[in-house]
Amino acid sequence: MSRILIAEDNAVNRELLHELLETRGHMVLEACDGQEALDVLERTQPDLLLLDIGMPVLDGYAVIRKIRENPRLAALPVVAVTAYAMPGDRERIVNSKFDGYLSKPINSQLLTEELDRLLNKRADRDESRRQASGNQPGG
Ligand code: MN
Repeated sequence: MSRILIAEDNAVNRELLHELLETRGHMVLEACDGQEALDVLERTQPDLLLLDIGMPVLDGYAVIRKIRENPRLAALPVVAVTAYAMPGDRERIVNSKFDGYLSKPINSQLLTEELDRLLNKRADRDESRRQASGNQPGG
């Protein structure tokens, strides 16, 4: 089980993501715009953030910038979620220090793959740290 924050201004999309994640056994936190996402991140640190790009108050690009500037949040895995299909958007997302990218409508298989990749990557890192200090290879 992981704690996942959804930052998405569209209620229908938010609910859909919430259900997909809950079905997979995750604990879900929600924010309705970019500023609210940063407010939630001040109070709690989730394991991963699904960040909509097009949001009022602060958009996803502004939020990712603030996250990467904050030492406490800099390593937080963040997946961009966007409906944009404009040329250059994908490149801009890649250049904005996101860890992953999902386009809307969300494909649940791709969502699962992204979560596995990013959450397991973290688990692997924790595991190698444990092995480095304990040093038993095990079966
Ligand atoms: Mn949006």
